[in-house]
Amino acid sequence: MSFETLGLHPKLLQVVTELGYEQPTDVQVQAIPLALVGDDVMAGAQTGTGKTAAFALPILQRLMTLPPLVEQGAPQQGAKIRALVITPTRELAQQVFDSFIAYGKYSDLKVAVAYGGTSMNVQIKALRAGVDILIATPGRLLDHVFVGNVSLANVETFVLDEADRMLDMGFIIDINRIMKRMPAKRQTLFFSATFSKQVKKLAFSILTDPKMVEVTPENIAADTVQQMVYPVDKKRKSELLAYLIGSRNWQQVLVFTKTKQGSDELAKSLGLDGIKAVSINGDKSQGARQRALDDFKAGKVRVLVATDVAARGLDIQQLEYVVNFDLPFNAEDYVHRIGRTGRAGNIGHAITLMSLDEEWALKAIEELLNTRLPQQWLEGYEPDPSLIETVSVHRGASAEKRRAKSKSKIHQNRGKNAQRRR
Ligand code: AMP
Repeated sequence: MSFETLGLHPKLLQVVTELGYEQPTDVQVQAIPLALVGDDVMAGAQTGTGKTAAFALPILQRLMTLPPLVEQGAPQQGAKIRALVITPTRELAQQVFDSFIAYGKYSDLKVAVAYGGTSMNVQIKALRAGVDILIATPGRLLDHVFVGNVSLANVETFVLDEADRMLDMGFIIDINRIMKRMPAKRQTLFFSATFSKQVKKLAFSILTDPKMVEVTPENIAADTVQQMVYPVDKKRKSELLAYLIGSRNWQQVLVFTKTKQGSDELAKSLGLDGIKAVSINGDKSQGARQRALDDFKAGKVRVLVATDVAARGLDIQQLEYVVNFDLPFNAEDYVHRIGRTGRAGNIGHAITLMSLDEEWALKAIEELLNTRLPQQWLEGYEPDPSLIETVSVHRGASAEKRRAKSKSKIHQNRGKNAQRRR
C-alpha cells in the first residue's frame, strides 16, 4: 500500500516523501480514507503507530480542498477555527502542533497551539491573526473560549487524542463543556490506546455512526517491544538501574517513577553514579520540562526520569530503552509507557524493576496483556529471601511453607541464572 493509493493530495504526498515515510502505517491505511470522506472514526491505536498523521493528513486535505462549512459571514467574537484537536498534555499538544506544521508545509492553512503553563498573550495574538486548526489542552482551550478569544461554533472536524488518558486525568467535565460549544453536525475522530467501559461510553456519546479502526488487538502492547522483568529488592533498584545502564552501555533511557519526588531522587542518585540524568514532572515549569526533553533528545543527558503524567505524549525518535523503575498503579499505563519505545518499526526494550510488593501490579499487567512477561533474576541482585518471607507472613500465608518455596526458587534461579519464562 502506498500513500498515493490513499487518495492524498499531491502537496501532502510531497511532504511525506520529504519526511522519508516510505509507506503508510496500518492506522494510516485504515483511517485516512475514512477521514477523507468525512466519516467519524473510532481508532484503537497507541502512540508510535503513526496515529498523528492518520488524523492530521486528512484534516489538512479537507481544509485545503473544501470551502468552509459555515460561511464566515457576520463577524463573531473570537477566532473561528475549522478543526480542533484536544490532547491530554502540553507536550503532546506541542508535538501534534509540530506535526501539523510539518505536514501542512505546502498549504496556506494556519495552525496554532494553546496549552497551560505558558503565556496567554502569545496564544491570543496567534488566535487574533486567524487560525484554521487549533491544537489545545482542555483547560487552556476553555480559558480562551470563556473570554471569547476563540469560538468553537464553526468546528468541522474535532479530534480527541489519547481519550483514555483524558479520562484518567479527570478531563471529562472539560470535554463535555467543549462538546457543548461545537456544532452537532461535525466530523469526530476519536483516538485511544485502550478501551475501558468509560472510554467506550465517552466514544459513543460523541461519535455519530463511527467506523472502527483497530491496528493492534485491544490492550495489546506493541510487538516490536522486547519486555523483561527483573525482580529486585526495592532499596537496590537505583543501584541495579545504574549497573544496567553502565554495564550494558544504554545510551538513551526513559525511566518511569510513580512519584514526582521519586523522579527527582532517582535523577540525583544516577548523577552520583556518574550517569547524566534529568527528571521531568508536573512540579517543573513548562520551560524546564522542554529543556530537559531537548537535552535528552540531543543526547546531552543519558537518562530522562519521568512520571506518567509528565511523560504523556513524548515523541522521541528511536528510543531504545524504557525502564519501569516503579510499576504503574494502572495496568493501562504500562502499555502507554512501553509505547515510547519500539516506535515506527524499530525494536525497543521495556525493562521492569519489580520489588515484591509490586507483584500484584505485574499480575494486573499480565492480565491486561493476556500474556506472561519473561522474568530474570540478575546475579548479585536476587531478591533477599528474608524479605520474601516477611511479605509472605504479611499476606497471611504459612511462613514456613513460603520460606521453603522461595529459598528453593532462589536456589534454582541462582543455579541456572537463566531467563525464566513462567
Ligand atoms: P505517532 O504515533 O503519531 O506518535 O508517530 C510516531 C512516529 O512515527 C513519529 O515520529 C512519526 O514521524 C513517525 N511516522 C508516522 N507515520 C510514518 C510512516 N508512514 N512512516 C514512517 N514513520 C512514520
